[in-house]
Amino acid sequence: MVCFCFLVDQKRKTRSTKPVAGSCSRCGGGASVADMITSTRFCYVPFYWKSWKAIICTFCGAILKSYR
Ligand SMILES: [Zn+2]
Repeated sequence: MVCFCFLVDQKRKTRSTKPVAGSCSRCGGGASVADMITSTRFCYVPFYWKSWKAIICTFCGAILKSYR
């Protein structure tokens, strides 16, 4: 089932961010707490959502820490 891979994709969205103290270990940019949503789509129809929180870098977008 090779074609299966092309029918399923995941999108990560950031709903809101709030600056927090701390800096990115990769680029030294500012960190912020973000509400994230990951949606999994099958044939472009979303069928699964997961919301989670993470601390991300506002400059390079790296995920520094994630909460489940
Ligand atoms: Zn960074």
